[in-house]
Amino acid sequence: MANHTILDKTVSNKYDSLPQPKDKFLATYVWIDGTDENVRGKTRTLDKVSYSTRDFPMWNYDGSSTYQSLGSNSDTYLKPVAVYSDPFTGGQNKLVLCDTYKYDKTPTESNKRYSCKQAMEAAKDSDPWFGIEQEFTLLDMDQRPFGWPKQGFPAPQGPYYCGVGADRVYGRAVVDAHYRACLYAGLNISGSNAEALLSQWEYQIGPSRGIDIGDQIWMSRYILHRVAEDFGLITTFDNKPVEGNWNGSGAHANFSTKAMREEGGLAEIEKAIEKLKKNHLKHIQVYDPKGGKDNEKRLTGLNETSDIHTFSSGVADRSASVRIPREVAANKKGYFEDRRPSSNCDPYSVTEALVRTCILDE
Ligand code: ADP
Ligand code: MN
Ligand code: MN
Ligand code: MN
Repeated sequence: MANHTILDKTVSNKYDSLPQPKDKFLATYVWIDGTDENVRGKTRTLDKVSYSTRDFPMWNYDGSSTYQSLGSNSDTYLKPVAVYSDPFTGGQNKLVLCDTYKYDKTPTESNKRYSCKQAMEAAKDSDPWFGIEQEFTLLDMDQRPFGWPKQGFPAPQGPYYCGVGADRVYGRAVVDAHYRACLYAGLNISGSNAEALLSQWEYQIGPSRGIDIGDQIWMSRYILHRVAEDFGLITTFDNKPVEGNWNGSGAHANFSTKAMREEGGLAEIEKAIEKLKKNHLKHIQVYDPKGGKDNEKRLTGLNETSDIHTFSSGVADRSASVRIPREVAANKKGYFEDRRPSSNCDPYSVTEALVRTCILDE
């Protein structure tokens, strides 16, 4: 299929091999736009780079083109917060994650990092760790899941989860390329697997400390969009990409504190779960970008989910809101898994809520 997104890579290789001047570096600044789900990026040349945000000046962009400000007062600021190696242009070039500020230097509405950082600072002594399982679906240019028949549906779910074979998984090349690109970037990617819906996949980031998990998830999403773009495919984090008896996508948040990881930590885990039970609605409201409306489609009690209206927990229970992994119950220490966050959640909001409820008792 002739496709405007797939340009001839042999042609672009000719330019990719041109040597880059020794004193010029590319820095691609990446930020979250006003949809609270999508990422944007733009590139500049710098004379000096490192892994310290101090070497990256503040920058700005037209917030009126990203749903973040009015056209009449559109300058929005980019403040570098984390630096990664750039897997797309290589060398010493960098990807620079930024949070965003309005003209008066207050955080934009989509800057959920700002208050997350404050919560993480306040909870520092408890040393919170997070591991997030990021599910997503690859789409063709017509917005249908990649490789699905143009009319009708593939065979029902069953063979696809962790599947192997050309009739069981579609798009592995994208997932493998993304895995390598994340490792190269310096992200703490810890695994990947094919998911229950054909062309749906998962990767995991973590365990990572405090604010770091939100930063890494957002950069891993940017990298995934870019890798899929190279293959002429679309990545969607939509939590219910196909209606009906097809699994939705989540972003299970695995969480522990120092006390939970130590001897007898299971009692700490149980205490945290009691607090989560009392704050169920508060969490549902920040576990997807639409205040719970997205998760209504996914958290039905079917397809390995809990019912959105009811909090539940259990050992090895994949139909519960919160699951204690079997080996954690056996070892009496470790972590728990909050299965409620939507695949398109803002990880800053999710981890902030966990910390405020379970550690800061807010
Ligand atoms: P599942 O069985 O739910 O599919 P996965 O293996 O996909 O589980 O993901 C488990 C996640 O838990 C990983 O992201 C891992 O980093 C994270 N994790 C492991 N130990 C801890 C811990 N002590 N605290 C927080 N997260 C953890
Ligand atoms: Mn998983
Ligand atoms: Mn999964
Ligand atoms: Mn899980």
